[in-house]
Amino acid sequence: MTSSVSDNGPESGGAPSHCPVCLSSVFSSYGEKNGCSVIQCASCDYIFCHPRPAQEQLNEMYKGGDGEGAVDEHFFPKASSRRRRAFFNALKLRRYIRGRRALDLGCGGGFFVDAARLMGGDSHGLDVNGHAIAYARRRFPKCQFHLGSFGSFRGKIGEFDFIYSSEVIEHVNDVEDYMDFLSSLMRPDGVVFITTPDIEWKGGAENPLEWDVFSPPIHIQFFSEETLVRLFRRYGFVSLRRVPDRGAGLKMLFQKQG
Ligand SMILES: [Zn+2]
Repeated sequence: MTSSVSDNGPESGGAPSHCPVCLSSVFSSYGEKNGCSVIQCASCDYIFCHPRPAQEQLNEMYKGGDGEGAVDEHFFPKASSRRRRAFFNALKLRRYIRGRRALDLGCGGGFFVDAARLMGGDSHGLDVNGHAIAYARRRFPKCQFHLGSFGSFRGKIGEFDFIYSSEVIEHVNDVEDYMDFLSSLMRPDGVVFITTPDIEWKGGAENPLEWDVFSPPIHIQFFSEETLVRLFRRYGFVSLRRVPDRGAGLKMLFQKQG
């Protein structure tokens, strides 16, 4: 799928050509935060930054290291609690993982990748940050880790039965490229577990712009359950269910239509 806004920005002023969720071309201003202007689709209420940050700025924020060499053992603080949390997350998802090919898209230090391996999955992780991948490779040598931008792996690592992508979609510069890539990695009937902050979370600040999750250019787009479901539907997924979360998490399971 191609679109006029999938060139990884930066974009000039003016309205975007279309809403990535519903394809409408009518927008209203939502406000401004950290020098970024935020707009809302008048049709589906999807909220996102426009223009997007320059890709070079994001590369600077997220890249680092070549995935090899010396590893800072403290690169991921509270590693043991991360590992425990990943284990219990994977345990709840084991029916989608056991005996399947699984990928953590945006895997960081590889905690979930190893947990998915322990659940019996052929477990892979992919991340753009070289320090994170070096850490993951060193700490979890039985798993397979891939370093690079998402686009650089298009068509190169095969297809998966299960994809886990936690707190990633709000960061990506081009959500249509991310969805296109995710979709290209999925086997028919494959399942995705995705998490992102819920912009409708009632425990957040009354004005979402004041909520610390509203943090462009780190977070660039903001989802409700409705806009996330609608975005996935556009790419051929059906919603299986929302997974309850006591905090601000929007956690959803989707299945790719065969
Ligand atoms: Zn829309």
